[in-house]
Amino acid sequence: MRLLIALIVLSSSLALERKTFEGYKIVKAFPENSEHLQWLNHLKDQNVDFLQPATKEGRQAIMLLNPQQYIFTKTAFDSINLSIDILYDNVERHLQEMWKRLSKKKAFDINDYNSFEDINQGLDDFVGSCPSGASCNIENIGSSTEGRPLRVFKISKSGANRKIVFFDSAIHAREWLAPATNLKLLEAILKQDTQDAINLLNKYDFHFLIIHNPDGYVYSWEVDRFWRKNRSPNAGSFCIGTDLNRNFDVNWGTDGTSTNPCSETYGGSSAASEVETQALQNYAQRVGDSVIVWTSIHTAAQIILHPFGHTENGICVRAEDHDDLYRVANAFADAIENTYDTLWTRGNSCEEIYPTSGSTSDYVKAVVNIKYTYTPELRGPGFNPGKEAIELSSNEIWNGVKAMISEIEAVEKL
Ligand SMILES: [Zn+2]
Repeated sequence: MRLLIALIVLSSSLALERKTFEGYKIVKAFPENSEHLQWLNHLKDQNVDFLQPATKEGRQAIMLLNPQQYIFTKTAFDSINLSIDILYDNVERHLQEMWKRLSKKKAFDINDYNSFEDINQGLDDFVGSCPSGASCNIENIGSSTEGRPLRVFKISKSGANRKIVFFDSAIHAREWLAPATNLKLLEAILKQDTQDAINLLNKYDFHFLIIHNPDGYVYSWEVDRFWRKNRSPNAGSFCIGTDLNRNFDVNWGTDGTSTNPCSETYGGSSAASEVETQALQNYAQRVGDSVIVWTSIHTAAQIILHPFGHTENGICVRAEDHDDLYRVANAFADAIENTYDTLWTRGNSCEEIYPTSGSTSDYVKAVVNIKYTYTPELRGPGFNPGKEAIELSSNEIWNGVKAMISEIEAVEKL
């Protein structure tokens, strides 16, 4: 019995030990020609972790490199005259400062990053501060692999044929700025302290899934800050997790996904094999007819993407209503740019970043038939910007969302 207790204590203490990023660097590269791009894509095949993908010449890529990868990469890049800038010289030192700050934080704080537990407390408290004339409630739309709830916060008003504006975030666990920004959008609607927020809630209901991948999110807090996938075990492999944004039942297993369970883009054992995917698919099917726009928030590349991600005969597929999607994406991105004079790319996701399949956005577009669906890749840098990024990100996305809805109304003559 004593041995058993010792083993349990040992395994639980091992499980809680954080992975160290001592000596890791986060670096930025600007590919200027096709040879540079080829090299960057080669590194991706070698399992180098790209925090911002290498997509086009003249567009920056950001990588997380362990000490060996850095030496190899620096030598290779020197030989082809591709220079790299070091954003973080020792990632662990940067993370330690953040963990120190966060360990002092004792409760939910909307202007900082929050644990899964604190976010749930924050959502519960938000129900109690619902604006007059509206109703607020939380629906559990399913459970994660490890049994954590997937909670959709709904703010609604009574009235016939009201449409839903939907936001999800944290399908990729490490993209902490996404749920932080999503929470600020929720707060903007809930507070009703601007005329824009009042007008929007008078017209639409708002649904927010702040944490789509709770197991991965908790793991990114407790063990590995840069964890992306969910935490579901894979038969026949020591590697854990599926990339939920390659697991949706739409063109599954075709473009931009991997069959290797150790890959960051592993699409799962079959279409919608993961309970987190199933929960959101079922929810989308249930409410889809009422959704006017579905936005899945990611980080970090300063891009507004819209469907589709996949290819046919090697060519990126555009939706039939591509022009409408692109027009609204332009309004969304322009309003963001005008907030802090930044530059945002916009367009078809296959054309603007790379081919993908099995994403949330493509599923709700192609299978649920929600016309407008967007994937903002928020500002960075990388997946671990300081807490000051939350205010900047939420201000620009709030402006973007208002412009997006207004442009949809103009196109659809609503
Ligand atoms: Zn992502």
